[in-house]
Amino acid sequence: MMPLLSLDEIYELINRFDPIHYGKTRNYQNGGVSRLSPYLSRGVISTRQVFELLRKRGFSLDQMEAFAMELCWRDHSQRIWQHHNPQHELRNQQYRITNQTQLPKELLEANTGIHAIDDALLALKDTGYMHNHVRMYLAALVCNHYGCHWRTAAKWLFSQLCDADAASNHLSWQWVCGANAPKVYYANQDNINKYTSSTQQDSVLALAYDQLPQLEIACTWTQPEYAFEPKPTLAFEIDAERPTLLYTPYHLDPHWKEEQEGNRILFWDLDHWQDYPYSEKTFNWINDLANLTIPNLQIVVGTWDTFKSSIVLEQTFCKEHPLTATYGIQTDERAWLLPDFKGQPGSFFNFWKKVQKHLRNEN
Ligand SMILES: Cc1cc2nc3c(=O)[nH]c(=O)nc-3n(C[C@H](O)[C@H](O)[C@H](O)COP(=O)(O)OP(=O)(O)OC[C@H]3O[C@@H](n4cnc5c(N)ncnc54)[C@H](O)[C@@H]3O)c2cc1C
Repeated sequence: MMPLLSLDEIYELINRFDPIHYGKTRNYQNGGVSRLSPYLSRGVISTRQVFELLRKRGFSLDQMEAFAMELCWRDHSQRIWQHHNPQHELRNQQYRITNQTQLPKELLEANTGIHAIDDALLALKDTGYMHNHVRMYLAALVCNHYGCHWRTAAKWLFSQLCDADAASNHLSWQWVCGANAPKVYYANQDNINKYTSSTQQDSVLALAYDQLPQLEIACTWTQPEYAFEPKPTLAFEIDAERPTLLYTPYHLDPHWKEEQEGNRILFWDLDHWQDYPYSEKTFNWINDLANLTIPNLQIVVGTWDTFKSSIVLEQTFCKEHPLTATYGIQTDERAWLLPDFKGQPGSFFNFWKKVQKHLRNEN
């Protein structure tokens, strides 16, 4: 799995990261990407903190523009989720759907025949991570050529990733299959070879780009199985005299209310499991990360309705997040590249212009 890093070790990772090299190489599988996504998605650090740490090291916005834009993609997806459930198409219906509910066996068995994708699928099982470009290749193959429904495939990939995030993941699947973009994304074997170390010539994707929209690839469909569901926690301790400080798989910020005494609970909401299941490995990885970064934490699995009967709602605090918006508790704002933004974010590039202006004015 991805390394379990303490906050200091995450800072070290950011201190070693080269955003200029990133700009030149990020599309290559062996390029200088940050691998910060698990810690960003789990809320241990924020896009804002990463950006500021790099600025403190002396990088100007122009020098790290490519990287800042990717951080901004994350904020953009999160802002969309505040208004739009990522389970639903943002713009269009998927261009090609052969099967609404099942998954290609080739995906589960890392046996698509595209070597770069199969190798990445095998590595995903070990690490819980996949490079962005390969995620795009995978999604294009699975949705646009096999005809798998994006939602079915997105749910599966979500379950496998240490950085699993419903906004970034589901909206990216939608982007690839044209449900969140004006066009469908395709990649041929030459493109895959260019950005991965593959030299494969004999694949079904060894075609010219104008042939790809017609390419339907047969696969073996299988019912997805999410065998792992954690058991509800029966015993935990709440001191009614103290506030309850609620953490979630999206909010593991060690600096949040760190001076405050309270019942620190990482709450796994089983009502979210149906749409957003984690594999046992990613579930355990997230719990280990939480225990490493937040002292005196209890981990509680259950439904909100059951859990809320053991706490005082008015004395329970969390950070703002779409999945906890219905809890009826007090929340603190997340840290953003563009704070105090209200309303719909609109297209990425319009949003980026606003973020860019704000970041320049801050200087
Ligand atoms: C099909 C598909 C599924 C994806 N699922 C997820 C997911 O579940 N969780 C997730 O965090 N990202 C997801 N992404 C976006 C992206 O692939 C990962 O954020 C990135 O690969 C993480 O590696 P990194 O930290 O080295 O990224 P870097 O390239 O170093 O980028 C820095 C940070 O910017 C953010 N970022 C980069 N690209 C994107 C993007 N396209 N959308 C949103 N944020 C981005 C991430 O937080 C990332 O850590 C998905 C992309 C695709 C195409």
